[in-house]
Amino acid sequence: VKKHDRTVDEYVSGVLKNDRTILAQAITLVESNATKHLEKAQDVINELLPHVGKSIRIGITGVPGAGKSTFIEAFGKYLCEKGHRVAVLAVDPSSSVTGGSILGDKTRMEELSRDRRAFVRPSPSGGTLGGVNRKTRETILLCEAAGYDVILVETIGVGQSEVVVRSMVDFFLLLVLTGAGDELQGMKKGVMELADALLINKADGDNKQKAIATQAEYNRILHYLRPATVGWLTKAYTASALYGEGMDSLWKTILQFEAETKNSGTFEKRRQNQSREWIDAMIKDHLISSFFSDPTIKAKLPILEQDVLSGKQTVTKGVREILNFYERKTK
Ligand code: GDP
Repeated sequence: VKKHDRTVDEYVSGVLKNDRTILAQAITLVESNATKHLEKAQDVINELLPHVGKSIRIGITGVPGAGKSTFIEAFGKYLCEKGHRVAVLAVDPSSSVTGGSILGDKTRMEELSRDRRAFVRPSPSGGTLGGVNRKTRETILLCEAAGYDVILVETIGVGQSEVVVRSMVDFFLLLVLTGAGDELQGMKKGVMELADALLINKADGDNKQKAIATQAEYNRILHYLRPATVGWLTKAYTASALYGEGMDSLWKTILQFEAETKNSGTFEKRRQNQSREWIDAMIKDHLISSFFSDPTIKAKLPILEQDVLSGKQTVTKGVREILNFYERKTK
């Protein structure tokens, strides 16, 4: 069957059976920017809606070299051995900006990719961060319908990608390295305030003592920050992704987080807010792109710019005129 050529029913039943080939094709359909694929993809997702939402969605970020792919490999394997089914997705901000990839084109998480209990999907390419946002959210839904009960969404902290991933997950994990006080100070406070846990990776060998000291230091700092999740105290933990250490205690922390936030209603409230934000973001995306792709606007905009630059027209007046024109036109 050619790409995108399956019927809605074929996609739906294939995904529900966790036919990995069809799941991958359904994701490709969701990632397509063509209008007719978009419509078919929405029909597929709509049919699958009763089967989505039953996973824990975990975001993972950290600078290049922090050990994200090593960690995901170790954590993914740990979870599979516990009987979970793990889907790994990525939001790669670079692919939307430069077309290249920071997360890397090299095969990452090779072992996990081969594990039948796991499903590893590279980042969707092309489009704006808004587009990648939609594609990843919809891919999460497809994976949930296919029975994956732990979804890991990886990103590098570039641009707004951390905020975007935070807006689609239940739990957000920040991978950090051991470091001296100065490095800690230089750490973006904003990112720490998104995190539900900090994991100090590479706590092995000669680095172990240093990791424990770093952990204490981070815990002191975290004390003064705004918590990412109401009622949950973000703490620092240590791990060695390379040796698979610390996975158990991290997973216990996540389970405790899930139990507590479900109990308090915070979990459900966050998901509802995320849906609202998604609606909002999509409307904005759509309005912006329909405005800028309008042929008359495309023709008028350079004239407006010229008028402003040559001092014939104020920015406010010019913008109001062009927006009024667009409004009348779309009525
Ligand atoms: P990413 O860029 O965040 O995905 O980082 P990688 O997973 O590619 O890891 C970067 C480097 O750190 C690699 O050479 C890994 O082998 C190494 N590394 C990752 N985790 C650990 C760990 O727990 N301990 C040690 N000693 N090295 C690690």
